Amino acid sequence: MDPIAAERRHRAFLATAQLRYAWQFRQRGCAGVDDPVAVDVPPGWYGPLERLFEQVEQVLPAAERGGFRWRRLRSRQGVLEVAYDGVRESVSPLVATARETAAVTCERCGRPGARREVAGSHAVSCRRYYLDRLLSRHPGGETGVRQWWATPQPGLGGRSPAAVVQNGAPPEVLIEQALRLAMPATPRLNGAHRQRLQGVWPVLSEAFGDGLRSLRLAEFDPARGPGATLIGLMAGEADSPAQAAAVNRLARNGFSDLRLRLVGQRDLARPARASDPWSCMLAVEASVTIPRHQPSLPPFAR
Ligand SMILES: [Zn+2]
Repeated sequence: MDPIAAERRHRAFLATAQLRYAWQFRQRGCAGVDDPVAVDVPPGWYGPLERLFEQVEQVLPAAERGGFRWRRLRSRQGVLEVAYDGVRESVSPLVATARETAAVTCERCGRPGARREVAGSHAVSCRRYYLDRLLSRHPGGETGVRQWWATPQPGLGGRSPAAVVQNGAPPEVLIEQALRLAMPATPRLNGAHRQRLQGVWPVLSEAFGDGLRSLRLAEFDPARGPGATLIGLMAGEADSPAQAAAVNRLARNGFSDLRLRLVGQRDLARPARASDPWSCMLAVEASVTIPRHQPSLPPFAR
């Protein structure tokens, strides 16, 4: 959708909600200061939010509406943020449900989706929207993308991606191609980088034990400043408490500049199908191994 049409649709969504549920959108902040409700949500989430407004109207009788208003409704990195004034116990489960629904609803079209990363930015996407987000990082720019859509491929039975996508969601092979095209340059590590990064091994071995099979570094460009993606290849699935603990350990040991991503080794064969396709493809195509032990060098090379 073009930006003007999207803006018009957003205004229509907001105007309708403000008209129908005026009391939820009171523009009154603390101490009478004018403080409009901040609404910045993508079109795919209009449905879940309209349901939320309607349900809040149902659970709060007119006598209990004083002081209630939405303060902020917006999407941040694929997560629906909801803040409101006026504590109402009956509202919080409704907000929780809206957030859970948004987490599996494509931000662009409202069809089922998953929260997926593209170069550090997260959004809940269906397969088609995810493909478009990946293609926006095509190294050939808009011309490259147009060519890609129009070029027939033997792997697609001689059809072009455009023809294939007309008949439904993009197949895995197209997502995989777009992932490959969108990959950043593979990092080059000098001796000092490598030596520092080897310090990550003992920290993460303590967190994951033998579950951690190898470590790779991606999205690292010293010329652009600090920050890089650290990919842990795991024998099995890592649970989120273990991951959170590992992130804390890294920070305590001076590695807070590294974004830790865990990838199951089995997923490497089919990145488009993994829960984190971006990190998976980084591991396959655009990363370097961090060796576990410092190689023993002859004395003159030290
Ligand atoms: Zn979609």
